[in-house]
Amino acid sequence: PLFQNAVFHTTVANLRDLPQDAISEVAFAGRSNAGKSSAINTLAGRVRLAFVSKTPGRTQHLNYFTLTDGKYFVDLPGYGYAKAPEAIRSQWEGLIGPYLSKREPLVGLVVIMDCRRPLTDLDRRLIDWFRPTGRPIHIMLSKADKLSRQEQTKVLRAVKGEMALWGDGDYTVQLFSSLKKTGIDEAESILASWLGIEKPVKE
Ligand code: GDP
Repeated sequence: PLFQNAVFHTTVANLRDLPQDAISEVAFAGRSNAGKSSAINTLAGRVRLAFVSKTPGRTQHLNYFTLTDGKYFVDLPGYGYAKAPEAIRSQWEGLIGPYLSKREPLVGLVVIMDCRRPLTDLDRRLIDWFRPTGRPIHIMLSKADKLSRQEQTKVLRAVKGEMALWGDGDYTVQLFSSLKKTGIDEAESILASWLGIEKPVKE
């Protein structure tokens, strides 16, 4: 995989601690259990890389993985699981919201959604924090192996239909499976172009 040399860099709990050397970074968000860690690990080509984000003390923070100098994947805290709406709101208003709306090197947002439950209310709220930046959003519909071809086509069409209502903007969606390793090429192409990393052309 293109991002196979990714290594854990740092955990950020406060906006003032965001890496200052960042040139470009892509953030990954999603509901707890959506398959975000698996997707990051699949893209980064390392077993268990993103699971450091799940270690105690790191789950509520931003976890940075270095791709190359100054270029990062940022794993955002999973949301929605066993957490009161109030707790989610205060977290989003404190760290995640300001991060999404003001972080200069943040070139795009990836939202991982279980393909069987796409665009929940919390997904929409998270996306609403980011949309005003005008920067691109890519939805990865994870666990695609759980759906038939026909169901896959249907869910893609439904998500595209909703994105069309968001108005002008660079909004894309794809199916992905960490289990079957499908959708990697598509994801790599988009992330590489956002980050300004050259993707070797396949022979
Ligand atoms: P996270 O909480 O969003 O980081 O989700 P995880 O990556 O930990 O995955 C949550 C659960 O979904 C785990 O039991 C994974 O094994 C499972 N899972 C993740 N990706 C896939 C996939 O592509 N296919 C299937 N069938 N299961 C997956």
